[in-house]
Amino acid sequence: MKLTVVGSSPAWPNPGGAQSGYLVDSGGQRVLLDCGPGVLASLREREDWPRVDAIAITHFHLDHWGDLVPWVWGVSFGPGRDVPKAELWLPPGGRATLAQLGAQLGRPDMFEDAFTVREYARGQPFTAAGFEITPVKVLHYELDAYGFRVSANDSVLAYSGDSGPDEALAELARDADLFVCEATLERPNPEGGVRGHLSAEEAEAAFRASHAKRLLLTHRPTERPLDQRFEQAHDGQEVEL
Ligand SMILES: [Zn+2]
Ligand SMILES: [Zn+2]
Repeated sequence: MKLTVVGSSPAWPNPGGAQSGYLVDSGGQRVLLDCGPGVLASLREREDWPRVDAIAITHFHLDHWGDLVPWVWGVSFGPGRDVPKAELWLPPGGRATLAQLGAQLGRPDMFEDAFTVREYARGQPFTAAGFEITPVKVLHYELDAYGFRVSANDSVLAYSGDSGPDEALAELARDADLFVCEATLERPNPEGGVRGHLSAEEAEAAFRASHAKRLLLTHRPTERPLDQRFEQAHDGQEVEL
């Protein structure tokens, strides 16, 4: 299994960066985890139009799904016409959400026409692009948000999506080969209220509890440099696991 970090920026982009997008490749099949602004342009630097078998979205904050909109236009009118349709896996209720967004941004059916759209269910593993993916509900303000546990060929990648402190993160990443975990905050809970993000130390605590083998922190503003003991994801990074 190979991970390519396409975009690792948080809710505002780091200089020259793309927002959330993680391409996972195994045996020639590819799934893209999240598809934030900047991800499509970055993928197009590698190939005329990205050939992915599936895209899976963790939650409906724009930095995790926004590039689905230009993806639709490329599939409808551009070079994406000649590429096999990708599956698009959404959180529960996601089809209705995209129909509403489509009505505002183009037409209600635009996403259904461009992708083979499916919804996953909380905690229920699904198969996409030959990977088994388990969506684990995580704490992200009041929003319905998920992390993904992705496995193929005895390798396991865990991706937190956006999450505050949540015991579910240790389950998500249990014994995983790699835990890609968000570390948005300088310190715990400067926002107050319901938690939505982690500090690096909180991500590390979840990693320790999970017994995963390697921690890669992401979704971090440049303005918040990390202690040197942490490994931080960067756009274009490739990790074999
Ligand atoms: Zn985010
Ligand atoms: Zn979010």
